[in-house]
Parts: sequence; C-alpha cells; structure tokens
Amino acid sequence: MIPFLDMKSVYTELKPELDAAYLRVMESGWFVLGKEVEAFEQEYAAFCGTRHCVGLGNGLEALELTLRAWGIGPGDEVIVPSNTYIATWLAVSAVGATVVPVEPTPTGPNIDPERIEAAITPRTRVLMPVHLYGEPADMDAIGALAERHGLKVIEDVAQAQGAKVRGRRTGSLGTAGAHSFFPTKNIGAFGDGGAVTTDDAGLADRLRGMRNYGSKVKYVNVERGYNSRLDELQAAFLRVKLRKLDEWNDRRRVLAAHYSDRLADVPGLGLPRVPQWAEPVWHLYVVRTKRRAELMEALNSAGIGSLVHYPIPPHLQQAYADQGLMPGAFPLAEALADTVLSLPMGPHVSLESADEIAAAVRSYMVRSGGE
Ligand SMILES: *Cc1c(COP(=O)(O)O)cnc(C)c1O
Repeated sequence: MIPFLDMKSVYTELKPELDAAYLRVMESGWFVLGKEVEAFEQEYAAFCGTRHCVGLGNGLEALELTLRAWGIGPGDEVIVPSNTYIATWLAVSAVGATVVPVEPTPTGPNIDPERIEAAITPRTRVLMPVHLYGEPADMDAIGALAERHGLKVIEDVAQAQGAKVRGRRTGSLGTAGAHSFFPTKNIGAFGDGGAVTTDDAGLADRLRGMRNYGSKVKYVNVERGYNSRLDELQAAFLRVKLRKLDEWNDRRRVLAAHYSDRLADVPGLGLPRVPQWAEPVWHLYVVRTKRRAELMEALNSAGIGSLVHYPIPPHLQQAYADQGLMPGAFPLAEALADTVLSLPMGPHVSLESADEIAAAVRSYMVRSGGE
C-alpha cells in the first residue's frame, strides 16, 4: 500500500525534538500567547523575509482578520480565484464583502493576471491570489495591477510555505500573506494554526489585538475583537518543523521532478507546467486526465492512494447557491475540477514508490487507449 498521505512519519523523523518541545511547554505551565509563539513569529518572519508575523488560530482566520483589519465589508469587492479551495471565498464572505471570481491561466491552476483587470470595478478593494498546489501565482503581474489600481493584496499561502518568485518567498510578495498550519500543509502543526506575515507594522499591531479580544493590555479592550490565537504547544512544534521546511520542500521538488520524468510521454495525461520564474514547493503533484475516475480506480486496485483537489469549484457549491452561478460560469475552473488528480506527494514518499506509482499510471493510460 502507498497511502496518499503519510502523517505519522514526521513524528518518527523528529520524535526527540518534538518530545523535547512538548516537555518544555508542559513544564512551563504557560499555554497561550507566550515565549514559544513570540519566538516562532520571529523565526517565521525571518524565513518568509517579512518584518512581522502574527500567529493566529488557523488559515481561514488569517485571511478573514486581515480583511477585517483593513475595514473590508459589505459593498466591497475582493477578487479571488475561481479555482481554489473554498476557504479563500469563505474569508471574503465572512466579512460581508463580495467575492469576484477570476479564472486561472490556460496552463496552470492559478489566477490569470490578464483576466483580473476586466474584473476590477470602483468597489474593488483587495486582490486575493492563491498559490495553489504550492505553485506561486504570478505576483509580479498582480503587484503591478494592484499598484495601478490602488488595491491591497493578500496572498493565500496556505499551500505554498517556502515557495519563491524570483528568489523571494511567498508571504512577502503582497501587502500581507495568510498562512495555514493545518497538519497536511507543507509546514503543519499537530492541530490547527495559522499566521499573517507582513511588512506593515500597523497591520501586525492591529492583528495582535484582534486575535485576543481586541486587547493588548490585559482586561483593556480597545475594540470588539476575536479569539484566534496560535497556541504555545503548536508554536513549539512548528519551530521544530520550520528548521526542516527547506529540506522537506527540496525532497518534494526531487519527487516532483521524478514524477515528471517518469510520466513525460504518457498518452492522455497532462502534467504540471511550471513557469520559468516560479519556484514551487509541490504541496500537491496534480495531473490531468479525462479518465480520472477510472485512473483513480486503477490506482486504488494497485494499492495506491490518490485524491481530487478539488472536485467541486466554490461557485458550484451549495454554500454559494445564492450567488446564482450556474455550470458554465467559470469553465476553466470547472474543467480542472473534472480532470485533476493528485498523486501521493510529501517528503516521505520514496523515489521507489514514485516509480511504482508512475508505472501504474502509465499502465492504465496505455491500456485505456490514452484518451
Ligand atoms: C488549507 C487552506 C486554507 C485554510 O486553512 P485552515 O488553517 O484550514 O483554516 C485556506 N486556503 C487554502 C488554499 C487552503 O489550502
């Protein structure tokens, strides 16, 4: 069996360090907003190349609280990808603003800068690109658009911690970067966690209050805030994992190159095509085929796990039925939803496993006539 995800081997690899982090926090008797969170914030800001990092409860709230901090609300429009995980849209809806979806590029999963301009109106306030599957969106073009139209940019970095555009890390390429440390992400906690990275001291300061009931001085509440805090245990674990992130991302890169090499001429199979300027971190390795259901079944019979990210685009989810967006509204996102398949990916997938997976993919696609 080759599972799609192996969530246990991280602990096996780092047991002594993680156990030491656990004991350090347990013996300190201090569990919320303390030294570990402060240290992680500094270390993660340094990693991303930003002046500030604010630890938060999860990735959704990192997006949402940033919008709130900027006063985005009803009547405002936020440009989001039509092709994304629904959390991106939910953050915009949570503050009462309007999602304005924009289709991906013809060759990749990410928002197409060339289509953004037509979606900008006098109500547009924020561009919210997502670095889907760990592949950076075209931040140079998006930054230029934002500048020209006076818009803020939040990067959704949930799937792309450590990725780069021309040598600069995601999370430092917009006005703010929203990160998730959900366990399956490239750097994940052992529970929920999130953060915002930014060079904007005012935003960081505001978020520090908002995450803690609107209070920076105990029992003094300057605004009606929230409870969205990264906790000490998760921060301590994340500090251990952060030291491994580049190495783990390198292993993902080697695995992705191996897949692309082994699958290069498989009939009827679309492979990821990464732009020259992007250094992705391969959160997922996603192929495309019209015979997705059958390929999944064939892999499953061979003991190989695979998953679909994502089978239903946000605009066709019941959650957004009130928007009245019908099938055909975003054909590129819909075509991706119908054809994408994620192969096992992670620092602990061996190249031998990748060979076996690639052979099983090839064998099915050749047998099926490659259509
Ligand atoms: C995981 C994810 C989120 C949400 O992060 P949580 O920590 O689970 O709230 C947001 N956007 C994208 C693209 C994600 O993959």
